[in-house]
Amino acid sequence: MGVADASVNEHGVLMATVPATTSRPGVPTIGFIAHVDTSPEMPGDNVKPIVHRQYDGRDLVLPDDPSSVLRLADNPPLAACIGEDIVTASGLTLLGADDKAGVAEIMAAAEYLMAHPEIAHGVVRIAFTPDEEIGRGTVHFDVTHFGAYCAYTLDGSSRGELEVENFSADSMTFTFQGFNTHPGFAKKRMVNAIKVAADFLTRLPSGEAPETTEEYEGFAHPFVVDARVDRTSVKVLIRDFDEDRLRDRERRLDALAHATVADHPGSAVTITVEEQYRNMREVLQRHPEVADRARQAIERTGLEVRLKPIRGGTDGAWLSFMGLPTPNLFAGEHNFHSRLEWVSAQDMDRAVAVIVELCKVWNELTH
Ligand SMILES: [Zn+2]
Repeated sequence: MGVADASVNEHGVLMATVPATTSRPGVPTIGFIAHVDTSPEMPGDNVKPIVHRQYDGRDLVLPDDPSSVLRLADNPPLAACIGEDIVTASGLTLLGADDKAGVAEIMAAAEYLMAHPEIAHGVVRIAFTPDEEIGRGTVHFDVTHFGAYCAYTLDGSSRGELEVENFSADSMTFTFQGFNTHPGFAKKRMVNAIKVAADFLTRLPSGEAPETTEEYEGFAHPFVVDARVDRTSVKVLIRDFDEDRLRDRERRLDALAHATVADHPGSAVTITVEEQYRNMREVLQRHPEVADRARQAIERTGLEVRLKPIRGGTDGAWLSFMGLPTPNLFAGEHNFHSRLEWVSAQDMDRAVAVIVELCKVWNELTH
């Protein structure tokens, strides 16, 4: 493409530059980022992508496993893609659109910008990263070397989506101490930590769980129990979009655990809290133009902007707190981490148009 400085560092992070074409001084450098790794939860090698042309709402039966069927009834976003070309895998693997769709879109946008020097824009930086799916995508990301004022990950779902906030996340570990002795001689002596922990788990508010919440609702999610009579530990993920509410959840769980051991004489509990990640909104609201420009670019391509909170973490959140404000843009991916993963080729075109438009907007709105 004529991109002169593409390089991969020892940790597999690729960076490259589309040089500026603008004559205006002071246009900030912006970046676009996607991840090249795919989810370890499903095979992602030997992928056989299939393009289902001019989708008309029919069931898409994936040939290598006919029990893998993509149905309109189970996938409401397909309704917006009637008449478009749907890409799937063949039934046994991921498609890998998460996040190779983002990689492809950034590549296509770079190719377009390189071929059209008459489009005025500032310096555009590009990065492709490994290890996003194991939460380590930014560990070896050199923000200073990247040298951008802000960036956008292309790793989102439906067309028009713009994500500027994500969960704030901690994990709590509750270790219940009991007392073990031979069960034949245990009367009035044994304190079974497994039962104390079980009692604690039944006291968790049922309306504040992943399976009962959506959108902006937070939750507490026990996900590992290491159970022995003498000592049982319970690990719980705590999630909320607001840090004060996150702390409040933690205080309430702390109180529940202490109330539980009070009902089991001879038991005790120790509690530790570990910070995981924070809501990037905190950083992005100090740089409102980063999301505003994205909103304008999406609208200019004729799409409706859909602001959605990410009910999880994102590399962009880490990058934001590392000094690179990085909201997430749609890439067209659906059914992440599934053999029924799919993407519309036309949504990918729309994402490319948004990238190009975003480069123009940053140039035009710099005074
Ligand atoms: Zn992804």
